[in-house]
Amino acid sequence: MSIIYEKSIPNRQGVRLPACDVPVSGSIPKEYRRSNEAELCELSEVDVIRHFTALSRKNYGVDTNFYPLGSCTMKYNPKFTEKLAALDGFASLHPLLPQLRHGGLLTQGALAVCYKLERVLSEICGMDEFTLQPMAGAHGELTAMMLIAAYHNKKGNKKSEVLIPDEAHGTNPSSAAIAGYSVKPVPTNPENGALDVEALKSMVNEKTAALMLTNPNTLGIFNSDIHKIADIVHKVDAQLYYDGANLNAVLGKFRPGDSDFDAIHVNLHKTFATPHGGGGPGAGPVGVKEHLIPFLPISRVVKRDDGTYALNYKYPDSIGYIAPFYGNFSVCLKAYAYILLLGKEGLTEVSENAVLNANYLLHSLKEHYDVPCMRTCMHECVLSAQKQAEKGVRALDVAKALIDRGFHPPTVYFPLIVKEALMIEPTETESKETLDAFVEAMKEIAKLSETDPESLQQSPETTPVSRLDEARAAKMMDLVYTKPE
Ligand SMILES: *Cc1c(COP(=O)(O)O)cnc(C)c1O
Repeated sequence: MSIIYEKSIPNRQGVRLPACDVPVSGSIPKEYRRSNEAELCELSEVDVIRHFTALSRKNYGVDTNFYPLGSCTMKYNPKFTEKLAALDGFASLHPLLPQLRHGGLLTQGALAVCYKLERVLSEICGMDEFTLQPMAGAHGELTAMMLIAAYHNKKGNKKSEVLIPDEAHGTNPSSAAIAGYSVKPVPTNPENGALDVEALKSMVNEKTAALMLTNPNTLGIFNSDIHKIADIVHKVDAQLYYDGANLNAVLGKFRPGDSDFDAIHVNLHKTFATPHGGGGPGAGPVGVKEHLIPFLPISRVVKRDDGTYALNYKYPDSIGYIAPFYGNFSVCLKAYAYILLLGKEGLTEVSENAVLNANYLLHSLKEHYDVPCMRTCMHECVLSAQKQAEKGVRALDVAKALIDRGFHPPTVYFPLIVKEALMIEPTETESKETLDAFVEAMKEIAKLSETDPESLQQSPETTPVSRLDEARAAKMMDLVYTKPE
């Protein structure tokens, strides 16, 4: 597809401006005036609209097709939340507007949203306090690791290690390392797909600062040994951290705070609305128990005795600023609207249907693909294309073949401990008909890998760009535009 400048026709007009009815001023100093014409494209309005509509159709999103990208919770989010976030009273706020002036309440509504969202997230997660500042899940993890470091420093604890399960998301070890800790991977028990408690026991010692746990983990397995794990960790005053990226699986069913977790992040863009296919914006609020509250980042939203809200910066033990102003406010606003829209029953249904849908896919596909850990899964299931790989059809080929069949690929080659992993997360918003169509496509691919594996190795063939050498595409990017002759 050519770029819009190539479609330009000299003197073609998109808008007709009225004749100038004021004297033309020649007062712009010469050095500020252009010496040559601006190279703008000249097209009619309809050509511009067609160009950008055609471009948008090359995009792939939840609004167009099924998007079972494991661990990412690519669900459909109600447009109602977008509408609310676009309300002028929210969208036009400037972060430097005074909170209260001359009795005017310029930012009180926004502050109330922040304050109330912190309360409702605390309730949902069973934590004592929340900060909305972190701007993504990974940023939340880093914030929490900094809080934990501040806690240990304040107590004079000499801690140097963070323990992380070997199936964890890559952001976990990165966050711990950036916060100054060395990272020790804890093995997964292959029998049940959960953390190996005996191995954990042998690894925890006085140097352990924290254990970062995702529950359900990236294999989609819920760990029911949490109290035992918490005891082991707390015995040496280490902190138990909950990576809440998979909270979609347990809303209304399980509160990390009730299971002795000390700190948690939630990905608002995964669990509580906000589309996030294009890399953002997101929000990764962090919740903590009482003993970590003094270290929370500033600013914090407080409610005054007269019922008004204010930002408070006076916390001597705070880790300080981790984001400008109040984090990603519009994402927080959408999350608050989404939570109010669904209510307690609605949120519980979210997790029930997310888990039901994932188990439906697992059982529909278990005869056609290997299943590394055959247990009831939570909101996502992990299959393996090892059987297909023997015929030359790898997880990557399955993913590319799905694109030609109108589906976004699942997450592949993650978790790292599963060979040829296909990690599928349908989410609660998909219908049985959509899931069935996906199952049929997966079955067809499994069958073709037996009868005609070569046909799958060419996919995708229906996209503007077909199979790439992905390493070269990433490392040797061709970003320079060359004008066609
Ligand atoms: C998505 C995810 C993260 C990171 O969250 P971002 O918002 O993408 O930074 C961390 N852990 C798990 C398990 C995840 O799925």
